[in-house]
Amino acid sequence: MYLELNDIKKSYKDFNLEVNISVEKGEFLSILGPSGSGKSTVLSIIAGLESPDSGSVILDGRDITGEEIQKREIGLVFQEFSLFENMNVQKNITYAMDRKIPKKKKNEAVAGLLKLVGLSGYEKRNVSSLSGGEAQRIALARTLASEPKILLLDEPLSALDAPLRKYLRTKIREIHDQLGITIIHVTHDREEAFAISDRIVIMSEGKVEKIGKAEELYRKPSSPFLATFLGDGTFIPRSLLEDGNDGFYFFRPESVLVSEGDIERELSTYIVLKNAKILSSEFQGGNYILTLDYKGIKVTALTSTRPKKEYVDLAVMRNYLNVF
Ligand code: ADP
Ligand code: MG
Repeated sequence: MYLELNDIKKSYKDFNLEVNISVEKGEFLSILGPSGSGKSTVLSIIAGLESPDSGSVILDGRDITGEEIQKREIGLVFQEFSLFENMNVQKNITYAMDRKIPKKKKNEAVAGLLKLVGLSGYEKRNVSSLSGGEAQRIALARTLASEPKILLLDEPLSALDAPLRKYLRTKIREIHDQLGITIIHVTHDREEAFAISDRIVIMSEGKVEKIGKAEELYRKPSSPFLATFLGDGTFIPRSLLEDGNDGFYFFRPESVLVSEGDIERELSTYIVLKNAKILSSEFQGGNYILTLDYKGIKVTALTSTRPKKEYVDLAVMRNYLNVF
């Protein structure tokens, strides 16, 4: 593996981080978790801003656990825009480059980086004249100017508004694909993590809850925490559907078939919830999200049309059920 965090431990007062994470070369890995779960601490340990109490950080076969920040060849972009206000865009970007590089080469590199982030021609612009999204892209260009082996992004988009966030997350993925650089991206926005990552590390309370591809994590969550954290869905006691079974079924809204007629389904393939009462149906622009009551359990289902009846039958394929 290109980057390995081996048995990393770090404690603050009442917070204990304990992680093992491996990242492949060229991978786009997102770390997703609630606020306070330890995401930034992991990045700080990789970057060298914090040192772990124990464990090792291996980058490209080299133990960098005790190495100085400057020697690590790691780039870091934060949520806060961190440009030098008294320098123009060009100076901000060349600042990160090796002093020995001749000026002409530097200028060419700046032009290349500005093209990469979609801001060609911005060289002479004053940093204070930039919008939030532009400033963040210049910060990205500046970080890339030092040619890091790994790019660490700590919620770089969270200060921006939603449409810009969507645009820039796609841009970041494009840059990743063009450069083939390894990226570790921290976010608390699951849609963002789903949209752009090769794999996702789910963190909770200082621990890695799970590592996997978005689809696997979403469709086959391995714990009730993951099921709820990664999207909407319904927990239903198995005892309501089958005699003598303990535990819960969990399913996503889009796994539910909604029928206004009497539903006839093969019970070996489906579970059937007869006479669920529709409590609300919200139009989401495209689909409707229905909230229903089935024997006192709140069920959510996604449909393409709004049912006319108050009571409907529901069926879920057993393949789509998670059993807890
Ligand atoms: P996240 O980025 O997931 O929101 P952090 O890694 O920033 O979480 O923080 C995890 C926990 O560690 C929090 O409870 C935070 O208060 C604590 N923490 C982080 N850095 C420090 C520090 N330098 N000193 C003391 N406590 C810290
Ligand atoms: Mg953080």
